[in-house]
Amino acid sequence: MPLYEFACEACGARAEVFRQRRAAPDLEPPPCPAAPDAAGHRMARVMSGFAHHLGFATRLAEAEATWGAEVDAAMGPAPDVGRHARRYDRASRDLPPGEG
Ligand SMILES: [Zn+2]
Repeated sequence: MPLYEFACEACGARAEVFRQRRAAPDLEPPPCPAAPDAAGHRMARVMSGFAHHLGFATRLAEAEATWGAEVDAAMGPAPDVGRHARRYDRASRDLPPGEG
């Protein structure tokens, strides 16, 4: 059964949705699990099919590219997503192979 993964564009909370059929271009996004009634917490599809074999740092960089601007806009300049991603990227290079 195909699994569709969504991530909140505002807070990054994840939700997974199962569907019987593979093609679901009009799949309705679930509510944000962290703030289901809050405005601006829109859920966007995550391409989980290829994301799972990417390293954590790559997924962080991808998340930053996808949501960084919106997260910065929503939260202000204080939480620097890019800086955190780069820090985790550096940290991940010290991990043994396969742990990424
Ligand atoms: Zn949210």
